[in-house]
Amino acid sequence: MAQHAVPSAEAPDARPAPVRVPVREILPWAVFAVVLAAVLIYFVGAEQGATSVFGGTWIHEFTHDGRHLLGFPCH
Ligand SMILES: [Zn+2]
Repeated sequence: MAQHAVPSAEAPDARPAPVRVPVREILPWAVFAVVLAAVLIYFVGAEQGATSVFGGTWIHEFTHDGRHLLGFPCH
């Protein structure tokens, strides 16, 4: 018979209930986060030149430091 160093008030066979992961509640937020991240990565990494959605260079200049910080090719 095994003896524990610290006595437990629980029954010997008591196991914790498995944690319920509410996938249906998390899924819309996960999709939103993925779309938001994709948009941010696009604007930081690819909004310039032939792939630019908006004219001018103001988005490129606005995200310029972030582009270099993340290692995207720039100039
Ligand atoms: Zn640059």
